[in-house]
Amino acid sequence: MRKRVALILCAAIGLLAIGISNASAQNQPLRIIAFGAHPDDNELRLAGTAAKWAALGHQVKFVSVTNGDIGHWREAGGPLARRRTAEVQETAKILGITAQVLDLHDGELEPTLENRRTIVRLIRDWKADIVLGHRPNDYHPDHRAVGQLVQDASYMVTVPFFCPDTPPLAHNPVFLSYEDNFTRPNPFRADIVVSIDDVLDKKLAVVEALPSQFYEGGANGGPQFVPSDEAGKAKRRNDVRESFKRRFMATATEFRDKLREYYGPERADKVQAAEAFEISEYGRKPNAEEIKRLFPFYAAR
Ligand SMILES: [Zn+2]
Repeated sequence: MRKRVALILCAAIGLLAIGISNASAQNQPLRIIAFGAHPDDNELRLAGTAAKWAALGHQVKFVSVTNGDIGHWREAGGPLARRRTAEVQETAKILGITAQVLDLHDGELEPTLENRRTIVRLIRDWKADIVLGHRPNDYHPDHRAVGQLVQDASYMVTVPFFCPDTPPLAHNPVFLSYEDNFTRPNPFRADIVVSIDDVLDKKLAVVEALPSQFYEGGANGGPQFVPSDEAGKAKRRNDVRESFKRRFMATATEFRDKLREYYGPERADKVQAAEAFEISEYGRKPNAEEIKRLFPFYAAR
């Protein structure tokens, strides 16, 4: 009998929790935390939407789970980690957000219990309404580890005696995955697509503020990407900018049908560049109304 009462109580509390987020009142700023494996991953996949949230007064934090210390063809170790940390701090200024780089080695990240605790504490400390990360079948072992870690945190953030030193969240956040092209065991599904046309220049400025990765080519770059003459430098800058512009535009083209659902056909067909996200099965599942509250960009001006 007692068990039954407890069950009914649990169900009632569960029902009450539906539609409520950690930003307790409707007018509170949303709190978003994003986990990328390296100091450029969140920036490539979320900078546009992050800029839009920040412009509306919402609180966004980008966490790079590794320090990126092998992500270059010419330099490595502490000096590279320091350089890449400075790069993402610069991009955070452009976007109006907060950025943190964890001091874990690039290329060596594992979904350990210790790292799970770190992720859970970061999500709780930020009082997140939305958590983003890679899918666990992304190409890079560090990306897969982040996907696994975020997935493993997605229920534990509410469990009070897991990491009891950090208060649990009263409401499970919505967990979202970044777009990728990998198909096994399942392809990315675009549940939410956001037009970033109004902030495309900002996102391209972010790309430009990460020269170790894009202008110089990162781990697979080489001296051929770093011309010494002014004309060569200008051409290289332009090539990088245009290639990323095409990439951000490809997302809008690929998920045009989804854009139509959110924006209506007339507005959607004019969208040039976009960012797309998949809703995780493990966190809170937002309904259409909550998606519009968490992504307050769809109403026509
Ligand atoms: Zn990466």
